[in-house]
Amino acid sequence: MTPWFDPSLVFVGGAWRPCASGETLPVIDPSTGVEIARIARGSATDIDAAVTAAEAALSGDWGAMPAFQRGRILARLGQMVLDHIDQLAQMEATDVGKPLTQARNDVIALARYCEFYAGAADKLMGETIPFQPGFTVYTLREPHGVTGHIVPWNYPMQIIGRSVGAALATGNACVLKPAEEACLTALAFADLAHKAGLPPGALNVVPGLGAEAGAALTAHPGIRHISFTGSVATGRRVQAATAENVVPVTLELGGKSPQLVFADADLNAALPFLVNAGIQNAGQTCSASSRILVERSVYAEVCDRMAEAYRALTTGPAMADLRTGPLISARQKGIVERYLAMADPAHILARGQLAPDLPPGGHYIAPALIAGPAPDHPLAQEEIFGPVQIILPFEDEEDAIRIANGTLYGLVASVWSRHGGRQMRLAKRLRAGQVFINNYGAAGGVELPFGGTGLSGHGREKGFEALYAFTTLKTVAAHHG
Ligand code: NDP
Repeated sequence: MTPWFDPSLVFVGGAWRPCASGETLPVIDPSTGVEIARIARGSATDIDAAVTAAEAALSGDWGAMPAFQRGRILARLGQMVLDHIDQLAQMEATDVGKPLTQARNDVIALARYCEFYAGAADKLMGETIPFQPGFTVYTLREPHGVTGHIVPWNYPMQIIGRSVGAALATGNACVLKPAEEACLTALAFADLAHKAGLPPGALNVVPGLGAEAGAALTAHPGIRHISFTGSVATGRRVQAATAENVVPVTLELGGKSPQLVFADADLNAALPFLVNAGIQNAGQTCSASSRILVERSVYAEVCDRMAEAYRALTTGPAMADLRTGPLISARQKGIVERYLAMADPAHILARGQLAPDLPPGGHYIAPALIAGPAPDHPLAQEEIFGPVQIILPFEDEEDAIRIANGTLYGLVASVWSRHGGRQMRLAKRLRAGQVFINNYGAAGGVELPFGGTGLSGHGREKGFEALYAFTTLKTVAAHHG
């Protein structure tokens, strides 16, 4: 898939240009290990130029634009994304190694974010506050200014949609640093946004290395808000950098999300969700459900049925569009293999199959279902970020809560049970930013606030909550006697 733009350039101030150093980095297709393009190695100089362009946009057309017109541009952009669904899906599949159908779903999600925030742009309102006689007091929701967006490689389009979409809807100007391993659709999105009528400088994209362009972005004094999705280690660094400039940061750092299956659950309905939530995007999903907790009386049955489903999974190149594709890189594959090596071989209930004749340079791992490590074992505690699920038994509700809440993370959880009281009790007691009852993930849920607690991060993206995160509240107290 050859992009329709030159991916070796940065997009700054509404124009394509080489990065300051002129250096480029390879784009590797994870399905084959073959270089398919080059991207710019952006640096602090490029980030500085992008922030300057964003500031100019805020003092020009973009800053003066009424909210409903920002919404119109986002609506046009959403339609243009859908018009390019084939190109964008192929680009993402080749760049990320994501099976084509999953990549198409990401394009649709990106369009949905544009549509949702297009409609929301002119519906964010302040309030009037009853105060003393002689005063009129009201609040204004104002954009932060220039916002920084650091996006990982696992769901570039979805994460750009939820963070850049909300930031543009509320009138911020954005500087986006995509992951060096998955930049193509970020650049495509900027090109489409420009063609949809977004004024120059409102969205700037600077690819490059995290330690160079990413660190420069988080430390830049012109940045007024940072939205970061990625690892806990880098999240800590990002938060430390934003602390220097005393700016707000949203951190979305993944998790170890459990699904709790009770004996009274509709197992036929649950089963596809139990498996899919673990292996979608080869498990490289922040909200992956990597722990399945099952009430003892149905534990053996759920193990058997999940094992059967695992044995039917096949893994192959993204364009073959099987259930799982390759992992993003040899490094990520190495991380997952090290976790698999920690498992007692007798505990590996089932593996999926690798398709025949895989390209030798691809980073393939057959999905693995592992039963019964102790709840405090690293396999049951740490984010593996690969197609590996752990299945554990519990005795009763109290035990289920203890195990479910027994990690340092808290992103997503689900409860499978027909018992209404139990559903409500557990929804309150589970430590998670989202709790699903008799489903998992609600197909992405553009409208649903999302984010975590503990090591999963803080702040909320998606839905209307993101609009609050991307604005700052001003209180006006007018004394008129
Ligand atoms: P990182 O957290 O390092 O990368 C996420 C983003 O941060 C990328 O855009 C990266 O750029 C950027 N970045 C890296 N270093 C810095 C820095 N010092 N300052 C600012 N930005 C920076 O994740 P990795 O790609 O290294 O993956 C490692 C592990 O992280 C995975 O195994 C997985 O467990 C977890 N992860 C979680 C994700 C989630 O959705 N919660 C997403 C991705 C990873 P670049 O890639 O160009 O270096």
